[in-house]
Amino acid sequence: MPICTGWCRWEKYIEEVITRKIGLRVFERIEDAIWKFDPRDILTHKLVKVLPKVDLHYHLDGSMRAETIVELAKKQQVELPHYSHVDLREHLQQGAKRGSLKLYLEGFAYTTGVLQTREALYRSAYECLEDNAKDGVVYVEIRFAPVLHVQGGLSLDQVVEAVLDGLKDAEANFNINWGVIICAMRDRSDSLEMAKLAVKYRHQGVVGFDLAGEEAGYPAKDHIEAFDYCKQSNFNITIHAGEAFGVHSIWQALQHCGAHRIGHGTRLIDDMKVVDGQVKEIGDIAGYVLDHRIPLEVCISSNIQTKAAESYEKHPFRHFWNKNYRVFLNTDNTLMSATNLTEEYVKAINYYHLSLRDLEKLTINAMKSAFIPYNQRNYIIYNVIKPGYLMIRERLVGKK
Ligand SMILES: [Zn+2]
Repeated sequence: MPICTGWCRWEKYIEEVITRKIGLRVFERIEDAIWKFDPRDILTHKLVKVLPKVDLHYHLDGSMRAETIVELAKKQQVELPHYSHVDLREHLQQGAKRGSLKLYLEGFAYTTGVLQTREALYRSAYECLEDNAKDGVVYVEIRFAPVLHVQGGLSLDQVVEAVLDGLKDAEANFNINWGVIICAMRDRSDSLEMAKLAVKYRHQGVVGFDLAGEEAGYPAKDHIEAFDYCKQSNFNITIHAGEAFGVHSIWQALQHCGAHRIGHGTRLIDDMKVVDGQVKEIGDIAGYVLDHRIPLEVCISSNIQTKAAESYEKHPFRHFWNKNYRVFLNTDNTLMSATNLTEEYVKAINYYHLSLRDLEKLTINAMKSAFIPYNQRNYIIYNVIKPGYLMIRERLVGKK
């Protein structure tokens, strides 16, 4: 009902504008007019799905299709808690929302369990890119930890190449751009080897290096050699930080390890003084992140499931956004977190009242922060994202 009301009011206004022969030359004013109305009435799920979107924080092993896991498990005789994809999906998603990152990560044993062959890795990579393309994502950075996929006898090189091959073939069939981020695990001691692996494949599609896994008790600085190697190689670094551990973890990722982006960064809010729902003071680390335009890969649904944030209403995204941080929305794990990027955008519209202009800015924030070369980022911004939003505006005013 509210959707109809919104559209009707909107169409009536446009009719009035066109009747007055203001025409479409004054896009800014027309768009201003849209936001006289509640954006929740206009930005429907269907419309958001066709908006160009960018996801920079997307885990391959947390975003598989449940159907594929079941098929692969049967074929490889891997044990699962359920062999119905509906029940398995439910099991994994219920397991993910038990309020801690440690528990959230438990379900990954089943997905990595079936991702131990070239065929399985190729297929899941292909399907991830297909799913993103169908969700309106125009650029995605897909991350995974190769070391979790060698139990079946594959070498680290074979693991990386299987994923890259799947992505390259999917790219040929779906209109989408991508990059790969290689993850090292916080609780392991082979991060330097993973950093070398990432750099080795930098000209085949690997664009960055990440540190993932349980944050509490496993400081990023323990992996300093891996980060030094990336820095010496002029390579891109992102680090999961400020998710399950406090703002100190973010400081360490930036100032010890040289991270160019922060995965999550949720607890940065602990370095801000919030009074009556407004940020009144910003501490030194939060100020550094703001002033240096450090991108924060925000994953709202995942944060609520792991209790990095209490609820959608209380998630600090709204403060980061209002204070002009370089923030954008990401899925983290579409299967585990029962989401996709359209869902995350819709939630931001509903809970934080983001407008179409906000969504465009947020998407450009993400694209500016991507790890592909500067000119390629610009190309996607000016030839894909901006024309995509322009098309939607034209559609909204009835031009097309
Ligand atoms: Zn993550």
